[in-house]
Amino acid sequence: MKCATQTIYAMMKQKDPYQVEFHQAVEEFLLSIDKIIEDLPHITYHKVIERMIEPERAIIFRVPWIDDEGVVQINRGYRVQMNSALGPYKGGLRFHPSVNLSIIKFLAFEQTFKNSLTGLSLGGGKGGSDFDVKGKSDGEVMRFAQSFMTELSRHIGADTDVPAGDIGVGSREIGYLFGQYKRLRNEFSGTLTGKNPLWGGSYIRPEATGYGLVYLAASILEDHHETLENKRCIVSGSGNVAQYTVEKLLHLKAVPVTLSDSTGCIIDNDGFDAEKLEFVKELKNIRRGRISAYTEKYPNATYIPANGLRGSNPIWEVEADCAFPCATQNEINAADAQHLADNKVILVAEGANMPTTLEAVDILQHNRIHYAPAKAANAGGVAVSGLEMAQNSSRIQWSPKEVDRKLLQLMKGIYREISTTAQRYSTKENLVDGANIAGFLRVASAMIDQGYV
Ligand code: NDP
Repeated sequence: MKCATQTIYAMMKQKDPYQVEFHQAVEEFLLSIDKIIEDLPHITYHKVIERMIEPERAIIFRVPWIDDEGVVQINRGYRVQMNSALGPYKGGLRFHPSVNLSIIKFLAFEQTFKNSLTGLSLGGGKGGSDFDVKGKSDGEVMRFAQSFMTELSRHIGADTDVPAGDIGVGSREIGYLFGQYKRLRNEFSGTLTGKNPLWGGSYIRPEATGYGLVYLAASILEDHHETLENKRCIVSGSGNVAQYTVEKLLHLKAVPVTLSDSTGCIIDNDGFDAEKLEFVKELKNIRRGRISAYTEKYPNATYIPANGLRGSNPIWEVEADCAFPCATQNEINAADAQHLADNKVILVAEGANMPTTLEAVDILQHNRIHYAPAKAANAGGVAVSGLEMAQNSSRIQWSPKEVDRKLLQLMKGIYREISTTAQRYSTKENLVDGANIAGFLRVASAMIDQGYV
């Protein structure tokens, strides 16, 4: 790193020494900003970077709720309101036992630049809780969500902060959160996105992150005179993003062959089809089962249990042309990236947030694999959330076809923006630099216009 960025990075680490995920996100960002920092006016821009890595507000709160046995349980809730230079804070809620302040800060930081890339009027934020939805009854999830919203409702609003879903927060949880917000405020407003289209949601919001990811991957390949047709694809995860990634890959005649969850992965060398995907959706969204059940229904497929001691994840050893990590952060380490390179994978597009470690990104780029970073590649979800906010404000609802068309245009626009920015400031292939620099310049310019606030 250059001297200026190195100083900012060192100060941030000293202030919050244990926030390792946040350090990782900031380091990746600063390595790109390094390419332009010496050309930026020192007084204004360096101070802007210092402010950007400090959340405008971070709220931590107690969430008490009563389980089915009548016992009081306590979880911790978070909302990090990172940056409102471009619009109301916007970003999802994650319910997962691993959630802590470092993870929410890294997600809110990434979200700020991702939202900037959409070109919509959206600031950046993120929230969640260490609550584990797995193994809880509907009643327990509802009581937890109501208690969580009772505190969160003081800090959000349609023009202030608009949360959505993330890991562990799907349509069921959004319903309970919205219901409680409506009851507390006595208003039916667009304060949450990802709502059911029956009551204020946008069509294509559930599909948007996965569909948008595949649209962006297709744009990259098109730029290199390639398509997704007949490409074997590795997809990790089996939640919202993974399911709709597989669905869009099937629409474009690609051959997705894997899925996973925290217990292991399945490999179906025949490829998924619409019927197999429907089985996965029912398994994960309704029955809330484990991905291993896939091999009971389709015995030709193989199941490999997760093994944390192995040092690499077998899913990234599967022979394929393209890879779509759609589960969680740091799921591709250096050993995994080497396996992808050895197998001559041509493209890695990130559905999950920060799924690739810094060392792994280096290996992918060194091997000239097209690498689409999460900030750009998974921006389709928040882009359609932005469209949901627009529909809510004007009390209208666009058709699924209309929203899908807008999503495709948005993702093509994001690819154009990051590749031209990469070409201008770095190399055309370095979409990490393209996404970081393009996202940064828009946020920085708005912050400078608005003074030292
Ligand atoms: P879901 O909760 O629907 O699915 C998450 C999937 O990832 C599940 O299959 C889950 O397995 C797996 N998973 C979660 N944590 C781990 C872990 N520690 N190790 C292994 N597997 C894990 O979440 P989403 O699909 O919504 O989110 C997936 C990723 O996409 C996240 O990084 C999220 O931040 C990102 N994202 C989501 C957006 C959205 O619109 N939903 C928008 C942009 C990014 P299991 O069922 O066993 O827990």
